[in-house]
Amino acid sequence: MRTFSGIAASPGIAMGKLRIIDRRSITVSEYPIQSEAVSHETARLAQAIEVTRVDLELLKSRLAETNGEDHLFFIETHLMILADERLVTETTETIRTGMINAEGALRRTLHRYRETFARIDDPYLRERISDVETVIERVLRSMSGETLEPLPQHENHIIIAAHDISPADMLQINRNNVLAIITEIGGRTSHTAILARALELPAVMGVEGITDLLLDGVSVIVDGLSGSVIVEPDQETFQLSLRRKQHYEYVEYELLKTAPLPAVTLDGHTMSLRGNVEIPEEGASVLAHGGSGVGLYRTEMLFMNRASMPDEEEQLITYRTMQQAIAPHPLTIRTLDAGGDKLLEGMDQAAEANPALGVRAIRLSLSMPDEFKKQLRAILRVSADGPVRIMFPMISGLEEVRTAKKLLEEAKLELNASGIRFDSAIQVGVMIEIPAAVTLADLLAREVDFFSVGTNDLIQYTLAIDRSNEQLSHLYQPLHPAVLRSLRRIVQAAHGAGIPACLCGEMAGDSLYLPILLGLGFDELSMGAGSILRVKQILRRCSMERAVRIAEGCFAFSTASEVEMYLKSQITLDVTESID
Ligand code: PEP
Ligand code: MG
Repeated sequence: MRTFSGIAASPGIAMGKLRIIDRRSITVSEYPIQSEAVSHETARLAQAIEVTRVDLELLKSRLAETNGEDHLFFIETHLMILADERLVTETTETIRTGMINAEGALRRTLHRYRETFARIDDPYLRERISDVETVIERVLRSMSGETLEPLPQHENHIIIAAHDISPADMLQINRNNVLAIITEIGGRTSHTAILARALELPAVMGVEGITDLLLDGVSVIVDGLSGSVIVEPDQETFQLSLRRKQHYEYVEYELLKTAPLPAVTLDGHTMSLRGNVEIPEEGASVLAHGGSGVGLYRTEMLFMNRASMPDEEEQLITYRTMQQAIAPHPLTIRTLDAGGDKLLEGMDQAAEANPALGVRAIRLSLSMPDEFKKQLRAILRVSADGPVRIMFPMISGLEEVRTAKKLLEEAKLELNASGIRFDSAIQVGVMIEIPAAVTLADLLAREVDFFSVGTNDLIQYTLAIDRSNEQLSHLYQPLHPAVLRSLRRIVQAAHGAGIPACLCGEMAGDSLYLPILLGLGFDELSMGAGSILRVKQILRRCSMERAVRIAEGCFAFSTASEVEMYLKSQITLDVTESID
């Protein structure tokens, strides 16, 4: 028996067989060749293209049989790219004249395609480079013999361990056979962790070397409450973990009974507690956990695992499903926040030296106004069915908000012209998650109907700590005085302009922080469904007056650990403590 420790990324305990998977993206090296090797390299290229073609044809017939018609169009596009003569002639020419290996030559062809596509004016056609990238990646994989290992779909009771699991992979995990996940990298506020919690999949992250040190098939216990992974447990440890698991599930079950109780303090102050969701299936869970609507719907998940963007109708259908799931409560839809650690197909992380500071979120949306307007129109159309709010992510200044709002107005005019109904007074908010937005909060507050603080990013950018870097997780401090001062400033700016201050980062879901957030004056907290009841329980045991005192008390300290000690001395987290 041995124990590994990591970051407790998603609660719950699971026992199963380990299944190690490798989802690392392919590395390509270029090296010089002798003239006699030219024909060999050319033949390797031709063979890899043929193998890729056969694979795609197979995939196409499989999808046709399994109702995957929607995706057939993309496979056909990929087959057409593959059949393009120029792909072969240009690459062969580079092998011959550049005297380099086939992989290097193919990468150079891709580079030229990227340059050509970047010059295309039509944004839709310009973005088709992603299809070319996908196809070339397939050919490169075939040449290297490295296949992107598929996620296991039919093995039962497995616990997946991987160096990394992308958010896109998380969406493809089959909950019926995968019991938990373990990764070597990633932090609690990474999107993979957020999705694990949304899917109620226990997870431990940042477990160094686990994929090299262990073999497939060993029995493991993943304890997502303590952040440990126990390998080949002895009988006694197994029984102990089983009892912890039962106890955790019992407490969860008991908590569910408190779902109908109102989110109100001892002295009658109401706070909206809402859910963060990624896929429509989560809507029911938010209501079951007593959430009064959705404070953050991360729409980017709909854009993942596919070769092209969903059109307006598809978006409308998905948003409508979500709206119906939580009606009559309000739904806050955030516009696409892709980039950073949430890559869409064809977005190459390596292409940006600093993805977290790169073409993310509103920057991406504003760079493709036609796609952005499709999303805005779809959101507007759902607003005809019930209360919907719209929210822009990663706002850094006024120009971005104004441009986004201008496009929203255009989208409204387009709908009006077609006689399509929507809520013309739809509320528009911005996420405050970049330090510049905190500094400008008073000015931003005049432009919008509400603020929602994204503490996951705000902490990352304020403290210059990569939220996904497990090595720095101890420095990722929500109670850092710089963060607390920012929060105070945001609420003051919002209330000064008469708009509500909401908070939808992971900080909202940790009951330890509830007194500060309440005392600072936040009007709404939005969190993973699984956290709502614990937070509500603390809220119901607290008075506003006491929360204000606690919040003020926090500002007397100058380090995060001092604030934490003070906070812990002020409140008892009965429920959580009884589990940990
Ligand atoms: C945040 O940054 O706190 C947030 C809620 O958005 P996301 O986690 O999707 O970046
Ligand atoms: Mg964010």
